[in-house]
Amino acid sequence: MDLYEYQAKELFANHNVPVVPGFVCTDVAQAVAAAESIGETVVVKAQVKAGGRGKAGGVKLAADPAEAGERANDILGLDIKGHIVERVLVTAAAEIVEEYYVSFLLDRSNRTYLAMASFEGGMDIEEVAATKPEALAKIAVDALEGCTPQKAAEIADAAKFPADVRDQVIEILQNLWDVLIKEDATLVEVNPLAKIADGRVLALDGKVTLDDNASYRHESHAAFIDEGATDPIELRAKALDLNYVKLQGEVGIIGNGAGLVMSTLDVVAYAGEEFGGVKPANFLDIGGGASAQVMANGLDIVLGDPDVTAVFVNVFGGITACDAVANGIVQAVQMLADRGEPVTKPIVCRIDGNNAIEGRRILDESGIALIERVETMDEAARRVAQLAAGK
Ligand code: GDP
Ligand code: MN
Repeated sequence: MDLYEYQAKELFANHNVPVVPGFVCTDVAQAVAAAESIGETVVVKAQVKAGGRGKAGGVKLAADPAEAGERANDILGLDIKGHIVERVLVTAAAEIVEEYYVSFLLDRSNRTYLAMASFEGGMDIEEVAATKPEALAKIAVDALEGCTPQKAAEIADAAKFPADVRDQVIEILQNLWDVLIKEDATLVEVNPLAKIADGRVLALDGKVTLDDNASYRHESHAAFIDEGATDPIELRAKALDLNYVKLQGEVGIIGNGAGLVMSTLDVVAYAGEEFGGVKPANFLDIGGGASAQVMANGLDIVLGDPDVTAVFVNVFGGITACDAVANGIVQAVQMLADRGEPVTKPIVCRIDGNNAIEGRRILDESGIALIERVETMDEAARRVAQLAAGK
């Protein structure tokens, strides 16, 4: 999960990375009040999960409360790279002397953490990396050793931080490392890390990506979840305890086992090319013990997606044998009909594995016209793509 700047700064503050305190505002009146209580020039900043807000007009200085209100009025509702601004962060404006860049991230390909730092921050770091690679220091950080004072000094020196800020940067790097490790993040980034007029170094922007797989260790992170920005179908699926990810396509996918479901996405996308680029609409793994109830929940979620025009149920019977799965499908269709939500979209089923013959017989004799059984995975993918395309 990516965090908003104000949330990232909350974590920074908890780990002693210096930030400027601020107010999150959802309307103009709040922004005016925030500027009044700050009592000096403020910066009004769009809170969207996208970079380059400054260039898009989402970061503005305001000399007094009235101007803060005007800037908040300009920024609220703005579309920044497809994200509509619903909140602004109002903080005291820092008097910037120099802008730097620092980050830690999980470097998966090298199986380590990576620190990146530059004394040329502020602008796009991608641009620095492309045009002046020598200005961007990249230092591997061992996961077990962590960012020791020695490592932090190595990073600061490799990035050629000026002597007058070196000690502060070294301390900030160690505290940022704490944010990364103690909060189970996969990325922490500060751009700009700024030297201000009084000589202090502050994090004026913050980006944090939390590792969702570690969320069970951080009860407090639940408060960061932005339900408004989460897909409503994903929220419903989560409430039903289903492993569901919404994708941009037309073919609803239900399978058992993450590997099988992922290969199903591949074969459907491949088969869909022939029918004008039909694609899978979701990932849904209903797991090993796919009971009728779980199958009904899965069908309910997938059929409830307005983008879906046909469904592919791809099951390999293992511990749960195919006859149980087939009964599950038939009962699920019945359950939905009983609930007054009869299935209206075609369901292509491929079932194989333990007790497949009996499972296929159950589907074939179910008398449900919308269920179409196909023998192999590839044929089924082609058929469902064809049905989804309306051909
Ligand atoms: P981004 O464009 O989304 O990365 O948003 P930032 O928070 O990094 O802000 C963009 C730019 O606005 C920064 O690089 C600064 O130059 C400027 N800026 C941000 N905060 C302040 C501030 O407190 N004072 C001043 N003078 N400029 C700021
Ligand atoms: Mn920035």
